[in-house]
Amino acid sequence: MDIDSPNQLPVLHVRLKSQLHVGPNAVTRDGLIKDVDERVVVKTFPAGQRAFALDEARLITLAECGDLVPAILGIFYHGDNDSETHVVFKWCGTAPKTFCDLPLTDKLLIKNAFEKLHEEGIWHGDVEPRNVVKDAATGKWTVVDFGEATTHICEGPTCSELVQLEKDLSF
Ligand SMILES: [Zn+2]
Repeated sequence: MDIDSPNQLPVLHVRLKSQLHVGPNAVTRDGLIKDVDERVVVKTFPAGQRAFALDEARLITLAECGDLVPAILGIFYHGDNDSETHVVFKWCGTAPKTFCDLPLTDKLLIKNAFEKLHEEGIWHGDVEPRNVVKDAATGKWTVVDFGEATTHICEGPTCSELVQLEKDLSF
């Protein structure tokens, strides 16, 4: 931060790289914070869609799931509501192509991650292989993309999202 300008937050210089996903409300890209070479994921919401960005950030913050959900490094936009909104997430890993080819240990970690989310009162709403990512260096899984998520009172093992996940993981 520039100490001569105490009223200004530091600017994050992010170089946007490849496109990861195009969703109904946002485009998700790989990015790199230029000064420190740190990988990030940037989700860009078009003009007029800022409420979706803030809702998603609110749900991720609400899900008190530690590092099972991605850390948000910042939300960036120009003042008026007609500009794009960029949500910058810590990079957490890469998504598998399918659930069914994963080893049992990974399937269990994914199942545990969603169970924890549900215990914390979050319905993900878009459980797909592309929305779980693994850091190959640490073996850690993170649940991503809360664009369809809502708050939820979970009934436990009979909860339909958890039942469907077990089927998709083909235990
Ligand atoms: Zn549930």
